[in-house]
Amino acid sequence: MTDKFDWLRDHVTGAVFVPGETGYAAECSTFNLLTPLTPPVVVGATGVADVEAAVRFASANEMPVAVRGAGHSQPHQASDAVLITLDRMTAVQIDEDSAVARIAGGARWGDVVDATAPLGLAAPVGSATTVGAIGYVLGGGQSPILGRAYGYASDYVTEFEVVTADGVRRTANEVENADLFQALKGSRGNFGVVTAMRIALLPVETLVAGGLYFPGNDAPRVIRAWRDWAAKLPDAATTSVSILRVAPMPHLPQVLRGQFVTAIRFAYAGPVGEAVEQFAPMRALGPAMLDTVEEVPFATATTMHYDPPTPVPFLERGMALSDFTDEAINALIKVDGPGSYSPLGNVEIRALGGALDRAPAPDANPGRGAAYQVVAVGRGTANDSPAVLTALDALEQALQPWREDRQPPNSMTPEQAGVDEVRRVYGPELFDRLATLKAKYDPDNLFRVNYNIPPAL
Ligand SMILES: Cc1cc2nc3c(=O)[nH]c(=O)nc-3n(C[C@H](O)[C@H](O)[C@H](O)COP(=O)(O)OP(=O)(O)OC[C@H]3O[C@@H](n4cnc5c(N)ncnc54)[C@H](O)[C@@H]3O)c2cc1C
Repeated sequence: MTDKFDWLRDHVTGAVFVPGETGYAAECSTFNLLTPLTPPVVVGATGVADVEAAVRFASANEMPVAVRGAGHSQPHQASDAVLITLDRMTAVQIDEDSAVARIAGGARWGDVVDATAPLGLAAPVGSATTVGAIGYVLGGGQSPILGRAYGYASDYVTEFEVVTADGVRRTANEVENADLFQALKGSRGNFGVVTAMRIALLPVETLVAGGLYFPGNDAPRVIRAWRDWAAKLPDAATTSVSILRVAPMPHLPQVLRGQFVTAIRFAYAGPVGEAVEQFAPMRALGPAMLDTVEEVPFATATTMHYDPPTPVPFLERGMALSDFTDEAINALIKVDGPGSYSPLGNVEIRALGGALDRAPAPDANPGRGAAYQVVAVGRGTANDSPAVLTALDALEQALQPWREDRQPPNSMTPEQAGVDEVRRVYGPELFDRLATLKAKYDPDNLFRVNYNIPPAL
């Protein structure tokens, strides 16, 4: 085949596909089956040189660049972009002496956990190890396992290797390109293709972690009790409460499959006895359907949210709340609790605070200081998508009085990808600072297939 992409075929070691070619669909696949990517060309990069070539080609041809790591959050279809995929760049190297991992651009958290756990080391991973490690860190990385104990994952990054819009690989750390280093920590891919990062690891070998599952009809009293209890927990504890309509998926415990459930998730980075004592008031709430809270290896703790291990079609909504008052709980129960017949699979309230509020070195994360994060997800197929969207809208409306403008960047979802909404979430001051840096590093807004921060004029 001869076309305008021949230059790419000649200069890239990895794969180059155009629509209709065998391999194109797999190369463009995403974790969320509802967000297909349809670029005119996709480059499966094998290393930095391929990424540089793809970025230079895009720039010369006035095409935007889209990046797919593990594919969990694509707000646009990339229909006019050069898509760069990173599946062939997944190496994880650990320097045990310094407890630092070098993680390549396309590695999933699962790849990282496989490498670090045998050494008794850990990183503040999210609820799903299928998520891309770098995609997660570029949005701050808010761990529902270690977050309150250790803070955002991006706080632990010591260096990024990034190909910027001029097609040049740069190092960004506290000394070299320090402004770029700060901007990368929270701006969700606006500043280049990150081909690798170095991240400091934590000495976490085991944790007391797991879930306590009550019938869904207990949601009103369990959620109130959780709210009062969680507010007094030490920073070592990270916790959330969820209303779940559990899909009958094989990776789930039998007792939960197909059930309506209220779940409390708990992870404690401290002595076992202390953890058990701290968790006792939740166990005292009454007989549970399932209690998996116990001391487990860190790798086991990373599966405690039972997120789907393989791609699924889903619709989601995220926001932060300033407070979770009785009125807010009532509003939540009305739209998603017993008797609501909501189609949402998971509405989760995460308690933030603790080390997540620690003042870090300057970064691009507007989420600090918010008290709670809401994660709402519904399985969206051709049949049930309209009902799921209506339910997500109703939830958003119900919690509006407590909603903050700011939120952790990774909790932004596709309907928030417009510039006004991105500016609202980042706040005018941080947004304008990032827009000024964008003008320095990406003046033509090559990296705009994302939650875009356009360059300042
Ligand atoms: C099931 C599930 C569970 C999640 N749990 C959590 C959680 O607990 N905590 C949390 O903070 N977040 C969580 N997230 C959000 C997740 O961290 C973000 O969606 C993240 O951006 C996903 O990265 P990815 O590589 O998997 O996705 P992708 O869709 O491949 O990437 C998302 C965007 O990030 C950018 N990007 C990714 N990799 C690179 C790179 N190497 N260089 C430049 N830009 C890049 C691109 O702009 C891309 O559009 C979860 C998401 C899902 C679907």
